[in-house]
Amino acid sequence: MAKTDIGYLPRGNPCAQCGKPIFAPDWVEQGSGRISYLWTCRACDYRFEAVAFFDERHASAEPLAA
Ligand SMILES: [Zn+2]
Repeated sequence: MAKTDIGYLPRGNPCAQCGKPIFAPDWVEQGSGRISYLWTCRACDYRFEAVAFFDERHASAEPLAA
């Protein structure tokens, strides 16, 4: 599995449609102050994006799971 340089990576996010856990996001895109995760559910083929916002000054203080 490819490693990213992003320290915090959500895992096991439940599918927004059927609720099954998805092991890891398909795609992660880091912008300024936010990280976008693209999740694809293998059970129902539903795709959705979750965005985590963070304050770079307090990056590790409170990880926000979308
Ligand atoms: Zn699903």
